[in-house]
Amino acid sequence: MSDTLLVPCPHCQALNRVPADKIHDNGTCGRCKQTLFTGAPLTLTAANFAAHAERGDLPLLVDFWAPWCGPCRSMAPAFNAAAAQLEPRLRLGKVNTEEEQGLAARFGIRSIPTLILFRQGREIARQSGAMGADDIRRWVLGQLG
Ligand code: ZN
Repeated sequence: MSDTLLVPCPHCQALNRVPADKIHDNGTCGRCKQTLFTGAPLTLTAANFAAHAERGDLPLLVDFWAPWCGPCRSMAPAFNAAAAQLEPRLRLGKVNTEEEQGLAARFGIRSIPTLILFRQGREIARQSGAMGADDIRRWVLGQLG
């Protein structure tokens, strides 16, 4: 485990080097000067997905959802709460499968909501069906060990 973590900025996607012992210090992006952790899920698209799923050192938890999906909408507050609780240990993001059909197809999303946990670009776990914030947190932390 290196002492420096690569953290893609949620606003401009610039890769920031953050000393591991400073990750909780509310750092800002070296390029755009905005905060690296907002405590809220970021919107992932084909344009920024790779930056966060593959180039960063933090695990990435993605909620694949759609606006027409009732269980997805009812899980949204729980996912927001999980982001507030789990950052900066990991990054949370949302993929609107209606708008990002390429990403949905790439990961074979058959039912929503589906959560996928990535680490360094690799899928390490997935779970379908709505969950509460505590269940999301337990599940993620269990997967990360
Ligand atoms: Zn930035």
